[in-house]
Amino acid sequence: MTKICRLRGNRLGILQGDQIAEVTPALDVLPQLRWPLPHGDQLIAHLPEVLAAAEQLLPGAQRIPLDQADFLSPVANPSKIIGAPVNYRKHQDEANADGGVNFESDVKDISHYGLFLKANSSLVGVSEGVRIADPARRVDHEVELVVVIGRSGRNIDRAQAFDHVAGYASGLDMTVRGPEDRSLRKSLDTFSVLGPWLTTLDEVPSPDALGLWLDVNGTPRQRANTRDLIYGVARLIEYASERFTLLPGDLIYTGTPEGVGQVTAGDVLDFGIELLGETRTTVL
Ligand code: MN
Repeated sequence: MTKICRLRGNRLGILQGDQIAEVTPALDVLPQLRWPLPHGDQLIAHLPEVLAAAEQLLPGAQRIPLDQADFLSPVANPSKIIGAPVNYRKHQDEANADGGVNFESDVKDISHYGLFLKANSSLVGVSEGVRIADPARRVDHEVELVVVIGRSGRNIDRAQAFDHVAGYASGLDMTVRGPEDRSLRKSLDTFSVLGPWLTTLDEVPSPDALGLWLDVNGTPRQRANTRDLIYGVARLIEYASERFTLLPGDLIYTGTPEGVGQVTAGDVLDFGIELLGETRTTVL
């Protein structure tokens, strides 16, 4: 029953009520590594040991109020960030109604496009914010449920998919609209927001029935439920692992529902997912 986060300065925290308990010394259980580093995130690969050490530290841990916590991405070193294109029917409909926002005339769904990859260097926490480097280009928000892989696997059957999940986080798959490849448009620095924390698997009985939402400057933009995913979480893990070996800390952005829209500098994005919590980030 844990929500675990990384605070600025690479400090480790555990949510306790409306405070973060700082348990950074729990990181001492991680192996000391030398080059070449193994692929994958070492915190996630050793999550049970880290959580056990954190538990011991909780009684004496310093408490930080939530509104003073500075959240980095809870996963520091994924080997890859996987994205699911057009994985909600109503988002497919709005993309087509928009005349093909990406200069496609007949937008299809995930069964046609498969998956895409986002650059790891695009990953940030909610306190870092989204930076729009070129204001001449339209940038859209996409709120998404993100799966954090916990255990390595290849050719994972959907019936065993959750054995490979560490937990979930809310995320933003920020996107430049235009004709370029998704891997370019979604990989700009700060365009993969994750957090504020990782919610462990045991807190989420089913990831395929979670409400998710996003407001821009207090105005509702996205209101949806993961039950409407075309490929649900288990199917995404099966599909991805038939093609890539999944490693601890790998992230699967499961796709955005309807309601995407433009953001510009100064916008405040409040977003959340049922059972995972609500958070805020800003557009810089
Ligand atoms: Mn997306």
